[in-house]
Amino acid sequence: MAFLAEPVSTLPGLGGIKAALLRSELGIVTVGDLLEHYPYRYVDKTLIRSIKDVLTNPDIALVQGVLSPFQYEGHSHKKRLIAYLRDESGTLELVWFKSGKVIESVLQPGQTYTAYGKVQRFRGKATMVHPEMEPQRVESTTSQLTYDPVYSSTEGLSKKGLDTKGIRKLMRMILPRLSPALIPETIPNHILESFRLPGRAEAIRTIHFPTSANALEAARKRLKFEELFFLQLELLLSKKHRNNELVGYVFDEVGEHLNQFYSKYLPFSLTEAQKRVIREIRRDLGAGIQMNRLLQGDVGSGKTVVALMAMLIALDNGYQSCLVAPTEILAQQHFQSLKELVTGMGIRIGLLTGSITGQARKLTLQYLADGHLHFLIGTHAVLEDPVVFSKLGLSITDEQHRFGVAQRAALWKKSKPYPPHVLVMTATPIPRTLALTIYGDLDVSIIDELPPGRKPVKTELWYENKRLRLFGFMKEQIAAGRQVYVVYPLIEESATLDLLNLEEGLAAIQREFLRPQYQISVVHGRMPSADKEMEMKRFLDRETQIMVATTVIEVGVNVPNASVMIIENAERFGLSQLHQLRGRVGRGADQSYCILMTNGKLSDDARIRLQTMCRTNNGFEIADVDLKLRGPGDMEGTRQSGIQGLKIADLREDGQILQTARTVAAKIVDADEHLEAPEHLPLKRHLQETKRYNQSWSRIS
Ligand code: ADP
Ligand code: MG
Repeated sequence: MAFLAEPVSTLPGLGGIKAALLRSELGIVTVGDLLEHYPYRYVDKTLIRSIKDVLTNPDIALVQGVLSPFQYEGHSHKKRLIAYLRDESGTLELVWFKSGKVIESVLQPGQTYTAYGKVQRFRGKATMVHPEMEPQRVESTTSQLTYDPVYSSTEGLSKKGLDTKGIRKLMRMILPRLSPALIPETIPNHILESFRLPGRAEAIRTIHFPTSANALEAARKRLKFEELFFLQLELLLSKKHRNNELVGYVFDEVGEHLNQFYSKYLPFSLTEAQKRVIREIRRDLGAGIQMNRLLQGDVGSGKTVVALMAMLIALDNGYQSCLVAPTEILAQQHFQSLKELVTGMGIRIGLLTGSITGQARKLTLQYLADGHLHFLIGTHAVLEDPVVFSKLGLSITDEQHRFGVAQRAALWKKSKPYPPHVLVMTATPIPRTLALTIYGDLDVSIIDELPPGRKPVKTELWYENKRLRLFGFMKEQIAAGRQVYVVYPLIEESATLDLLNLEEGLAAIQREFLRPQYQISVVHGRMPSADKEMEMKRFLDRETQIMVATTVIEVGVNVPNASVMIIENAERFGLSQLHQLRGRVGRGADQSYCILMTNGKLSDDARIRLQTMCRTNNGFEIADVDLKLRGPGDMEGTRQSGIQGLKIADLREDGQILQTARTVAAKIVDADEHLEAPEHLPLKRHLQETKRYNQSWSRIS
């Protein structure tokens, strides 16, 4: 068996218990896995820090100074040996809980030593515990090991001697045994050369025991590239293979309806981003492969008209389309706005939701089945069995995250012989790097530009002491004919607390506003959905002026007259949620406002979130900050994407490397999709090995 594939238990000193722990605690099974347990940081042992600096920034550190006489403190089992190390900047306490006698006998007070270890703060005092002591260094020591790797470990492993030091020892033992031949290269030479990346064996050796900062940098780059490259290669290969199998309808008609709409009915000129996205969709639809495209665009970026134009292409080629929305109100709004856009074009649009029943429903179903209807707009009701299309060619879903795989499959079955083309629209921006990875086997279109002339929403952070001013401001806006949202956080740990929070706020608002002329809608998570919809409708129809709600209103309802979004306990919301909520306003002609209320006790992250909201309206910029704060693992949609398995690449920093890796992978897939060329054989082997490994591992655990 190849050395890297051998179980770690074959290494000297890693008996059954340690090997089992490595597997259960860190997922390390083979020698190869162990080598990929990369240090998460390094201690630069060449750098001697001043004691004063260490006192203010406790850390693992190397200091140098004169040793004081020893003394003992404490009694019996708490007895410990203490000494002080002094340089010109300050004094650091050193402590030994064990082996005091030995220490006393080898170290000499009055001499100069370097001390290396972790500095901890305890009761306002900084202490270095069990330092590694060395007599003063001769200047210009050229030690081989200038950087010490620091490894993550667990309590269980530390108890068995595999803390960071133990792992370091282990690596020192294994690495010299590794001739380069035992670490086969996985990336073709010409790629390494063109990006000046070191070979695999060298990179692995260097990442554990770097000899210089430059070498370390190069090794990290190489290993990050490798990781992202194989991830992309796998995604792109699976996409390619799927595309080979998934035949789709060919919509190659130039299109009378589309032309007519574009030249006569379109009430504005498209933004460049909209044009680009429509071109991308059009190319897909004509390619003979089933389209699977995600359309990302910030709230208000104009996705609806893009959807409509795709539907017109389907129509021009003799096919029906459906557009599915997550709520009844949204479906109605889509129905209305699409009808308005195509008035006079002779296009027949049907609406199908849960509340359309009886004769109306029967007729809609009949017109759909006999091909009279061109477009069907609806909710989940569209997915039900009795809904039969005459010729379904395109299915569009709005607000993607509300739809499960099973529902999408239901839609696919409504079309014969091929599945319909699929366009999924979402207003949740994700950074491009993440999109490439999460949706790596989908095509992604991005509308990254808002239509001109939008008044950006003004966002401000207000503290509790402005509560009265807030009420005053709400009154002003309502008097001017506007409507106001007030949103409370969902407190997940406690549904009771959640409601209490909303109810307290509501009571205060009612005291303030319940004069005859002001009406209040209330919507929260535990109301029956029919009641929710009714309350929303009252707000939409301007029967109420204030909408008090938990986050249920997040999903795209359009109330253009609402111009104020007040978010209570704003520090409790995530960035993307805040951004979605703010997207509910700023849809009409008036200046809109978003007021973030907080009680002033902000964590660092919360402060950054709220400041980001005040600084920018750009969803992609906000998504980037969100990614930096939370890390990719926590972002929506990342669960099954493989990015949680990343060992060294960090999508927050490595966007550039990812982009390169993807380009290189795409070139290879285009030229040689079965990886048959001789120079691609190592790629194939590596993919097969990691796959086999992944499978066997999932069986083991
Ligand atoms: P969303 O992407 O949030 O679904 P919509 O499609 O609802 O956005 O569009 C928001 C508003 O912007 C609508 O009133 C729409 O008519 C308008 N709109 C869309 N595209 C343009 C454009 N290119 N120029 C001007 N207004 C536009
Ligand atoms: Mg929309």
